[in-house]
Amino acid sequence: MKLILLGAPGAGKGTVAKRLTAIDGSVQISTGDILRGAVKEGTELGKKAEAFMKAGDLVPDDLIMGIMEERLQQDDCQSGFLLDGFPRTIPQAEELKSLLTRINQTLDGAINLDVPRDVILDRLTTRRTCVDCGAIYNVKSMPPKVEGVCDKCGGKVVQRDDETEAAISNRLDVYNEKTSPLVNFYEKEGMLLSVTATSSDVVVDSIKGKLGI
Ligand code: AMP
Repeated sequence: MKLILLGAPGAGKGTVAKRLTAIDGSVQISTGDILRGAVKEGTELGKKAEAFMKAGDLVPDDLIMGIMEERLQQDDCQSGFLLDGFPRTIPQAEELKSLLTRINQTLDGAINLDVPRDVILDRLTTRRTCVDCGAIYNVKSMPPKVEGVCDKCGGKVVQRDDETEAAISNRLDVYNEKTSPLVNFYEKEGMLLSVTATSSDVVVDSIKGKLGI
C-alpha cells in the first residue's frame, strides 16, 4: 500500500496509521514525528521548525519537501508507505505528485478521516503523548497505567506543547484554511476514500474493507 492519510489534527491519523502499517508491514511516515524528533535533538531543521510548531502554524513547505524528498527514497519505502500528516497544503500535494513521478512511485489512494469539530477539540485537550516512543494516551478514555509513565517504554507521558487551547484552536483554523482543500484535490485525482472516524476499530475495519486488505 502507498497511501496518504488525511484528516484534521486529532482525527486519529497516528493511531489508525500504526494499526494499518502493522497489517501489511508498510512504513508509517509522520512529518510531525520527524519534526518533533528534530526539535528534541536540536538539529538545524528542528531550530527552524520549533516556533511554527509551538504556535500551531505550519512549517514552511520547502522544509517539509526537503524532508520528504529524502525520506521517500529510502529503501524501507519501496514496498509501501502510509503518509501521516503530509501533504498539508495544495503546493505540498502538487510537489508530492511530481516527486513521486520523478522517483517512479505511484499512490494507491488518499484516506480522509472525517471527524466533527467538537469531538476533535475534546480529544486534543485530553490527549497525552509519550516523549520517547510517541505512544498516544487519553486522560479520560485510555490513561497510562501509572500516571505520566508510558506503558510501552517507561518514557514520560506529557501534553504536547502544541496542545494548549490557543494552539489547538489555531491548528484547527490552519487545517480548515490550508489542509481541508486537499480532500477536493484527491477527489479530483480519483483517489479519495472517505471514512467517518468514530472509534479506531471501526475506522480500521472500514478502511480494510474498502481496500480489500
Ligand atoms: P502533527 O503531529 O501531524 O499534528 O504535526 C505537528 C506540527 O508539525 C504541525 O502543527 C505543524 O506545525 C508541523 N507539521 C507536521 N507536518 C507538516 C506538514 N506536512 N507541513 C507543515 N507543517 C507540518
